[in-house]
Amino acid sequence: MTSQSQSLQQITDNWQHVSANVKAAAKAAGRDPESVTLVGVTKYVDASLAGDLVTAGCHDLGENRPQMLWSKAESLAELGPITWHMIGHVQTNKLRRMLRYRPLIHSVDSPRLLEAIEQESEHQQCTTDVLLEVNISGDAAKTGLAPETVKELLKQSQSQSVRVMGLMAMSGLGSDQNAALQQFQQVAQLRDDLQQSTGIELPELSMGMSGDYEQAIQAGATLVRIGSALFAGLLDR
Ligand SMILES: *Cc1c(COP(=O)(O)O)cnc(C)c1O
Repeated sequence: MTSQSQSLQQITDNWQHVSANVKAAAKAAGRDPESVTLVGVTKYVDASLAGDLVTAGCHDLGENRPQMLWSKAESLAELGPITWHMIGHVQTNKLRRMLRYRPLIHSVDSPRLLEAIEQESEHQQCTTDVLLEVNISGDAAKTGLAPETVKELLKQSQSQSVRVMGLMAMSGLGSDQNAALQQFQQVAQLRDDLQQSTGIELPELSMGMSGDYEQAIQAGATLVRIGSALFAGLLDR
């Protein structure tokens, strides 16, 4: 058993280490370190360890299941403002409760989901920011839209209640860091092409996880989604 103060110490060390790496990777790429947001992915841990991460200084938290997002959001409400990030598959029947926490939804992967977000946002009289998830690696096991279909969805998308802010992607299963870099560069290129052809600004690129965030930052990521590196030393292995 690790005591509560030990877990806070460990998470604070991890947070400082990973934050410093993120800033160094941005500088090495000639980018402003402030242009990259580190999203702490808390799906592996309970609300108490997620709260330690907030105390350590992380105010952007990501979850891959809507129920986990809203239960942590409710548990951690007293810690002050947290920006929530939904990074996994969303079933439309979970939207109503989840949208109360005004998450950035990284994982829009169908026209149907986009429409449902639009309707529910109208109902809650809010604007929801979303990213379109692209399957850049072509892995059948990975979710996301084929690059060819992203453009169609983007054209039908902008409205009062939903704003597409950019793209999200994951590197393919088993990709080494070099292959991951190439895939992230393809995502950035796709974003540039889409901006050109549609005139819609797409400032955000959500890509990079614990094993490949430095490559993602090199390719232009503005949001990196990091879980295991932040909870190193605390997870069962
Ligand atoms: C779990 C998860 C992450 C974090 O992965 P780590 O390798 O633990 O950093 C990032 N993005 C998505 C979509 C995830 O499901």
